[in-house]
Amino acid sequence: MANKGQIGVTTENIFPVIKQFLYSDHEIFLRELVANAVDATQKMKALAASGDCTQELGDLKVRITLDEKEKLLRIEDEGIGMTEEEVDKYINQIAFSSAGEFLQKYKDQIGNIIGHFGLGFYSAFMVAKKVTIDSLSWKEGAKAVRWSCDGSPSYEMEDSDRTARGTAVTLYLDDDSAEYAQKSRIEGLLDKYCKFMPVPIVFGKEQEWKDGKYVDTDKDKIINSVEPLWTKAPSELKDEDYLGFYRHLFPMNEEPLFWIHLNVDYPFNLTGILYFPKLKDRVAIERNKISLYCNQMFVTDHVENIVPDFMTLLHGVIDSPDIPLNVSRSYLQSDAAVKKISTYITKKVADRLEGIFKEQREQLEAKWDNLKLFIEYGMLSDEKFCERALKFALLKNTDGKYFSFDEYKTAVSEAQTDKDKKLVYLYATDVQEQYTYIQAAKDKGYDVLLMDCELDAHYVNLLEQKLTDTRFARVDSDAVDKLIVKEERVALEMKEDERYDLENLFKAVLPKGNDYFVTGDNLGASSAPILITQNEFMRRYREMSALGGGMNFYGSMPESYNITVNMENPLVAKIWEAKQADVAPQAELPAEAPSDASEEEKTKAREAREAVRKAHRADVEAFAEGNEILHQIVDLALLANGMLKGKALADFIARSQKVVSDAYLKA
Ligand code: ADP
Repeated sequence: MANKGQIGVTTENIFPVIKQFLYSDHEIFLRELVANAVDATQKMKALAASGDCTQELGDLKVRITLDEKEKLLRIEDEGIGMTEEEVDKYINQIAFSSAGEFLQKYKDQIGNIIGHFGLGFYSAFMVAKKVTIDSLSWKEGAKAVRWSCDGSPSYEMEDSDRTARGTAVTLYLDDDSAEYAQKSRIEGLLDKYCKFMPVPIVFGKEQEWKDGKYVDTDKDKIINSVEPLWTKAPSELKDEDYLGFYRHLFPMNEEPLFWIHLNVDYPFNLTGILYFPKLKDRVAIERNKISLYCNQMFVTDHVENIVPDFMTLLHGVIDSPDIPLNVSRSYLQSDAAVKKISTYITKKVADRLEGIFKEQREQLEAKWDNLKLFIEYGMLSDEKFCERALKFALLKNTDGKYFSFDEYKTAVSEAQTDKDKKLVYLYATDVQEQYTYIQAAKDKGYDVLLMDCELDAHYVNLLEQKLTDTRFARVDSDAVDKLIVKEERVALEMKEDERYDLENLFKAVLPKGNDYFVTGDNLGASSAPILITQNEFMRRYREMSALGGGMNFYGSMPESYNITVNMENPLVAKIWEAKQADVAPQAELPAEAPSDASEEEKTKAREAREAVRKAHRADVEAFAEGNEILHQIVDLALLANGMLKGKALADFIARSQKVVSDAYLKA
């Protein structure tokens, strides 16, 4: 038999097109050819299992051989093989036309291609100038056939001298694909694409150490494990198996926190194992650590269109034949099967976490700090996950105690419900920096949560929407008595000009560059003279805009602080008295211009009034400037908030030494 023909496709010469278009993905040819060999082997096993074929099968392997010198690469199987008619049908007609169709379809949007696709047999021509197939079908009386093609649209078919059942595909590697004639390159590709394929794949020999070097033994080297962990029944597996598999996948990583074994066969087919890695901060996050497989064949480690974004923080393997591969990425997201799969995985992850919460609470608490970034990100980005997570997410207080949302509500509702029946959850973001405030809150019988995760500014906002009648307040957002207002408080009455003087008095000695809202209040004789707080909402919006929450208006505003002056504090009282005594009251303001006055007259009158105010303000400022104790109490308050730095701090220390000396030595 000798037979020449034209491959039935309209494209003039498809091979240059294959090479050019699919440049970046040349290496997948090996996966495609090995996958075909594995398929043929699996079909053989199926025939034997069904009794349709009674031949002795032997232990079926796929064998890869490389002749580095001749640049020949061969993929050989003991599968079902092909008859001449089948080669003609599957290779000349179908395979070729589907490769052609594929390119036709995608040549305009190559940039969009998923990157991994079932181009199949013809992808061999991405790296080979000539390809031959030698095949002997399993069928009784079949004759071995040889097909060869040198990259032009014509092929040759002739008799083959092959005597063993199965198929050998031989690639005469192109000069510009010489890299694939290197053993190490092929080893790398087999490890990437084939290490979990379901039929043993042989490449080279096992080696042993002999006479000071590694030498080949007679034993075939099998590069894959045919039954990876995710294909086994979860009930047969122990923790150590899962941990071992994780180490196998990610030898450099720390141990995972928890894992989930996915296993579903209806309404779609999906198996896999997902691990929760330790997440410390956003910087250390590694994405793309989930590999997608299709029947144990590696497809991609970009699963961002297949699972919700926050799930890409997980590590592991998903195997599903139901995820369409040869479609563009943007299409994937809208694919109904993919949506179902995504929803399923999210639900499973939530189920698992809830299970851990119920049955392994101690474990959950022990690992929570490394898990919460994932959970918070999930809750913030996925509505459904959020609803579920409210049942198992934990809150941690500044004493290191953990609570579920329900537990926390019960624990604090008595002490921390305000006059409007709203629960107020107090939180700190830094136990050291906010120590004084935390202590003050605890002394009042309040509990303080620790919210030191990078996403907490957003998270706190989210929780306020999700938890009914609950408000969050940072411990330093107000005086401890005002954090949770239990009964209507009457504000301290001050006359307008007194209030104005108080404001100017303190602004004169506070650091420049910030906004201050100064108010007088009665906080008790034994309480601190001044309290510096930051409005909860202003601060939160600033933080969110810093995290990229899009609220840039707040981000660009100066820092603003509330300065509450405790008028009952003896030091304040004394300074205030001195001010009343030393600074003359503001002179009477000149009258305003009548409404029918000219613009010029109005401006003049306004300026005259302003001049009087300004003169008085200058007097108050001069008094403030000269009052050592005023400086001292303001600096102490700044110091308590970590706001005293540089020259201001040096001045404070020098002044403190003087004040102490004056008090002690001159007394
Ligand atoms: P696909 O594998 O997606 O069907 P291919 O182009 O890779 O497309 O292969 C086309 C067909 O050729 C296969 O469906 C199969 O019937 C046949 N074939 C390819 N390789 C082999 C092989 N090693 N053994 C038996 N049949 C094969």
